Amino acid sequence: MSKLFLVPTPIGNLKDITYRAVEILGSVDIILAEDTRHAVRLLKHYNISRKLLSHHKFNEHHSADPVCDLIRSGKTAALISDAGTPGISDPGFLLVRKCIEKGIPVETLPGPSALIPALVNSGLPSDRFCFEGFLPVRKGRRKKLTSLETEPRTMIFYESPYRLLKTLGEMAEHFGPERQASVSRELSKIFEETIRGTLGFLADHFRNNPPKGEIVVVVSGKKN
Ligand code: SAM
Repeated sequence: MSKLFLVPTPIGNLKDITYRAVEILGSVDIILAEDTRHAVRLLKHYNISRKLLSHHKFNEHHSADPVCDLIRSGKTAALISDAGTPGISDPGFLLVRKCIEKGIPVETLPGPSALIPALVNSGLPSDRFCFEGFLPVRKGRRKKLTSLETEPRTMIFYESPYRLLKTLGEMAEHFGPERQASVSRELSKIFEETIRGTLGFLADHFRNNPPKGEIVVVVSGKKN
């Protein structure tokens, strides 16, 4: 039966893909990719060559209907993003919702995403957590941080190296400089590192060691 698969791809180490992900990517009629040039390079590594269509945040509103039509006509499609799980701070949600509305089967494979290794590696409680993705850059930023001041669960944020210091400073203001946190950089890559400590310590550390690469910030929830 034709359906939409959401297929997670590695966040850094090309060995981090499942057998089933490779099998499905190699057998679908169409691969929908956030960046088709990036996808060609990735798929080549696994000896996969399929028809590619672009599906990214600038066209996802317009491409969802035609993609659903293709699947309903009997084609099988797989959505991938540049890295990790589609729909997690990446395009995917709109297409999944549209497929569900139209009665098209959707199957999401388990696989890589930056948030879970960062959470587990932080050493902070992982039994309850909330994923906040990227904080708003300007509008709504202060409001969001204020709303999280009393959050009791461990919080996970995606961040760019250019904004990390500002974010750690603002988090220290909102959550207190003594709140425990961790910063994971370049997960599964050569220069992977996790630095753990208070928000105050982490701000000092990255002021003295300007960060590079991809970053996940994990912050302890408010203790009673
Ligand atoms: N879909 C992806 C996922 O499932 O994790 C997230 C895509 S989002 C556009 C990219 C952000 O994820 C980066 O800015 C960074 O915050 C985080 N990220 C992705 N890969 C990472 C890695 N190898 N190490 C640390 N953070 C990473």
